Amino acid sequence: MAASEFSLIDRHFAARRRARADVALGIGDDGALLLPHAGQQLVVTLDALVAGVHFFAAADPEGLGHKALAVNLSDLAAMGATPAWATLALVLPEADEVWLERFCRGLFALADRHDVQLVGGDTTRGPTTVIALQAHGFVPPGLALRRDGAQPGDGIYVTGTPGDAGLALATAFGKARIASGHEGVVQARLERPEPRIAPGLSLRGLASAAIDISDGLAQDLGHILRRSGVGAVVDVERLPLSPALLASLDRDEAATMALAGGDDYELCFTVPLERIARLERAAAAWDCRCTRIGAITAEPGLRLVRADGSEFRLERLGYDHFR
Ligand code: ADP
Ligand code: MG
Repeated sequence: MAASEFSLIDRHFAARRRARADVALGIGDDGALLLPHAGQQLVVTLDALVAGVHFFAAADPEGLGHKALAVNLSDLAAMGATPAWATLALVLPEADEVWLERFCRGLFALADRHDVQLVGGDTTRGPTTVIALQAHGFVPPGLALRRDGAQPGDGIYVTGTPGDAGLALATAFGKARIASGHEGVVQARLERPEPRIAPGLSLRGLASAAIDISDGLAQDLGHILRRSGVGAVVDVERLPLSPALLASLDRDEAATMALAGGDDYELCFTVPLERIARLERAAAAWDCRCTRIGAITAEPGLRLVRADGSEFRLERLGYDHFR
């Protein structure tokens, strides 16, 4: 970037240094020196947010800072990992100090809450804003939550209330309207997703498979089904629909939004029947809902059913960038 690149990095990134004991050298050299945790597996995940694709160019930068980290912490949660470090590649059309200041406020507020240290990155000029963040965490060998462990008979669960973020997106595109009085809550669900770190950690040794919902519950559950070589029946009447979603859409539209809306960053996971009592005890301590929505079947494919057993038809599964 321009001559101000180094002062920008110093002011906004180096100055906010946290001091984790497993960081020997953070921002400021050619590379960070990190101390991997002995006997643990390192989990690495990266998500890029592109202006015009993942967010509106005029979006609140504080929310973007939060979301860039949140979507990656959500991946760590879905692996059952304890977050540790992050690196950040920022491509910006111009050196906008006010934008950067606000972006960092959102980013570091969430990083501090989860004891995550930003240990390096790159800042460069480019034609449009791109925020690529990589997060690193740790998990004991054998305890990571993977997509490939679901077995016939396992219960299927979801955290929180999927569909709210999809409603905010649909509203932004003029395809829906948030019921009056619910705008703030729904907008926050899109702009400030809360990574389910504590639930993810307590699912170690409990869940047989897990994924975080970024592209829609139906599509992301489909990844678990394919990787595990199983199918599922989901009872659409059991979907945890928020009051805001139910106030804004009719029941079938609300269920469709919960199944296919995307951008939820909730966890979808499966639990063997014999561990359900343990799950319920663990979930009582979570600060979000945990709802059983269906069961894994030996027969492949995802079946969506109503309470009377009839089929619920979904016209699209969720978001696909290349469709
Ligand atoms: P180099 O040219 O050796 O790659 P840079 O001048 O790009 O180094 O970066 C200087 C220091 O600032 C490095 O430690 C780098 O990791 C850090 N850094 C640069 N941009 C960012 C950013 N957006 N977020 C966090 N750290 C950054
Ligand atoms: Mg260098």
